[in-house]
Amino acid sequence: MPLTAPALLLALSPIIGGGRATADSLMGAGVSRSLATARAAQIRDVRYALSLDLTERDSSRGTVTARFRVTKPGDVILDFRGQRLGAVEVNGAAIPSPDFNGAHLRVAARSVVVGENVVTVSFVTRIAAAGASIIRYRDATDGAEYLYTLLVPADANQLFPCFDQPDLKARVSLRLRAAKDWRVLANGPESSTRVAADGRAIEHEFVETEPISTYLIAFAAGPWVTVTSPASKRPITMYVRKSRAAEAEGDSIIRANDVAARWLEGYFARPFPFRKLDVLLAPAFPFGGMEHPGAIFYNEDRFIFRERPTLPQRLGRTATIYHEVAHQWFGDLVTMRWFDDLWLKEGFATYMAAKMQASLDTASGAWKTFYLRNKPAAYAVDATRGTTPVWQSLENLDQAKSNYGAIVYNKAPSVLKQLDYLVGPDAFQRGVRRFLAAHAYGNATWRDLLAAIGAESRLSLDRWGKQYILRPGMPVIDQRVQVAADGRTRLVLRQRPAEPLLGKGAWPIRTSVIVGQPDGRLVRLRVTLDADSTVVALPAGTAPPTFVYANADDYAYALVLPDERTVAWLEENMSSVKDSFLRALLWGALWDLVREARLDPARFATLALRELPTETDEQIVAGVLGRVGRAVVAYLPPERRDSALATVEKLLRRGSANPDRPYGIRKPYLDTYIRVAGTPSALAHLDALLDSAEAVGAPLRPPTRWAIVTALIERNAPGADRRLERESRADSGSEGKRRAFVARAARPDAAVKKEYFRRYFADDSLNEDWVTASLDGFNTVRQSEMTRPYLIPALDSLRWIQTNRRIFFLGSWLTSFLEGQTSAESLVAVNRFLEEHPELPPDLRAKVLQAEDELARTVRIRGAVETR
Ligand SMILES: [Zn+2]
Repeated sequence: MPLTAPALLLALSPIIGGGRATADSLMGAGVSRSLATARAAQIRDVRYALSLDLTERDSSRGTVTARFRVTKPGDVILDFRGQRLGAVEVNGAAIPSPDFNGAHLRVAARSVVVGENVVTVSFVTRIAAAGASIIRYRDATDGAEYLYTLLVPADANQLFPCFDQPDLKARVSLRLRAAKDWRVLANGPESSTRVAADGRAIEHEFVETEPISTYLIAFAAGPWVTVTSPASKRPITMYVRKSRAAEAEGDSIIRANDVAARWLEGYFARPFPFRKLDVLLAPAFPFGGMEHPGAIFYNEDRFIFRERPTLPQRLGRTATIYHEVAHQWFGDLVTMRWFDDLWLKEGFATYMAAKMQASLDTASGAWKTFYLRNKPAAYAVDATRGTTPVWQSLENLDQAKSNYGAIVYNKAPSVLKQLDYLVGPDAFQRGVRRFLAAHAYGNATWRDLLAAIGAESRLSLDRWGKQYILRPGMPVIDQRVQVAADGRTRLVLRQRPAEPLLGKGAWPIRTSVIVGQPDGRLVRLRVTLDADSTVVALPAGTAPPTFVYANADDYAYALVLPDERTVAWLEENMSSVKDSFLRALLWGALWDLVREARLDPARFATLALRELPTETDEQIVAGVLGRVGRAVVAYLPPERRDSALATVEKLLRRGSANPDRPYGIRKPYLDTYIRVAGTPSALAHLDALLDSAEAVGAPLRPPTRWAIVTALIERNAPGADRRLERESRADSGSEGKRRAFVARAARPDAAVKKEYFRRYFADDSLNEDWVTASLDGFNTVRQSEMTRPYLIPALDSLRWIQTNRRIFFLGSWLTSFLEGQTSAESLVAVNRFLEEHPELPPDLRAKVLQAEDELARTVRIRGAVETR
């Protein structure tokens, strides 16, 4: 139960004081940095023999034997916050009343020897749909049950007593007792199976692993179906649940994993670091993927396409595979010493994924994909008051979840791209190889990485590290083109922090400036920006440029705001820009002006809808139309939106219906049409679409059908309930049930909102993934007045969420509840909440401020539109 452990902890925690102060303070909740530091200095060569019984429904009985070497005398503290602690034995002697406080088990110094120690503990841990370290998933299609673990960042100690910190790596040998018809998967290969003594289950044993961090330990069990591809160099087996096996493209998923592993072996000049590689498609998985050594778990929902995928969806799946395979070296082989360096593994995995795509699929526009997937997301957080440095100080592992987000996933790979550009790709690669060689099967910090790359490039990266790794926030570059009386042109690039409250001073930026010539030629200039203002002399004798963009090829990590001359030229000539990567960047720059309240959202939408009919790049069309959706639905005040709606609907509908355009272009038109449609005729048209067998040149399948049903429910269209009923009957499996739950959350009915909000906290059988999926429907902008009463309760629940929900939940929660509001009153309420709760921990305050930024921008943009 979530509440018992902290309550027990309060009751049993000894009063700090006297000679035991240090040891007692280490016994507090979570794993403090002081405990981790003390233990790392005290303990070596850890091995766990872990045995768990998975045949009971709601809990698992287990035993662990921890063997480790102690280098200096003293108490030894293990972490455990599972359901129940049983018998404890230390070095062969039973400990009759163990010193256990609900968070830690202390082995007294008198029982510990300097040298080899053996501690055996029996325990019980919980199995549940949410809030437990063993997740149970019930398949609504066939009633089958599946189990899998997810221990990152600090839930290994919820599973079993251990030293739960990344720099006490251990060799793990696992034994699982499971139902006879179940298959099991773990980090190491299975070494033996035998029928249990009672004849009622099978006991599976796995080969001992290489040294791995506790958060990387994983297993899964259930009636999985397996696919093994014999074609690959190393046999990779994919596990998928029975009811979805027919839809999963096993061969191509396995091939992508194999290709990535082989490419990385070459780049890193190191063989695959673990004994085997298998993959699991995990149902209701709360992340995109998790890089467990030898057993990568992927999000089943994002990996099995229920309708023809678009290019961004396919690229997204490949990028996730490349990311998780890259982690086998970056994260698993060499691991951050502490979660303050989370960026090291996440930034690298994403950056390597893009490098791999660029090398393996040269026609795919890997760096354009990288830009679209990372930069807008990074800037959206890094330009806020709530941003953090890439390296994030962390006092206790129980707050590690807060370190996850766009800064480590999107900013970190972006600054690595800048670093690679600065030192050159050869020195970068040599530096990475040097780093991996020096710390294999061990731990390292960001300073170790910069030292290795610095050594290979013969550059001091101290200042670079201070500005990009330790400093919060990001630069905005304002472009200005000045034409002097003598006709000579110069470009002034002014740099300022996006958030002035976070400090002054320029970032060192190496960038490529692109200058459009009147004759159509493009000139690229390599420029270093190292001051608040940099003047770039344009080549002598040339006429004033048609347009300028100070981040060609996206090497710089900076938000570049174009000058008026460039904006005016783009409004007339966007389609004449031949390079699709550059077009993607320029569309992004125009959108940034909208978000700065300097370009009318209606003007952006008009330009987009005029230009996109000739745009051939699927990623650009999808990205720009997504922004058109946000501009129309949220940024335009209701009266402006309503008067523009019929025209926007008509253009979107025309784009989706154009038989001369490919599926990948028509589909985002349809998606945006579904999102925007509001007039009775558009809603009637959507309703009628459900009766047609195909749309946008492909069969109309459940994901899009459900999006239409959800839109009809949300907008209270006539007959919406009947549609929901019919769709639920037609798509009655586990996926359909999830979609129906999501659709109902969007119903404009105060009683429904009340019931959903209650279930978000009180319903133990509700998968976290279902809740996450339903949040945007619950908080739709169109119902902001109805959901307004939940804004403050949503903020009040942050601490509970931090304790009881997984890594990404809190961010999704905040984004949904705050982006669902658009009024100045809501903005005031959020800021008042922050003022009235000075006790809110800084990490949670920062998360609120990150999400508050989009609400503040929406209010500002609406205000600017009204006064124009
Ligand atoms: Zn990752």
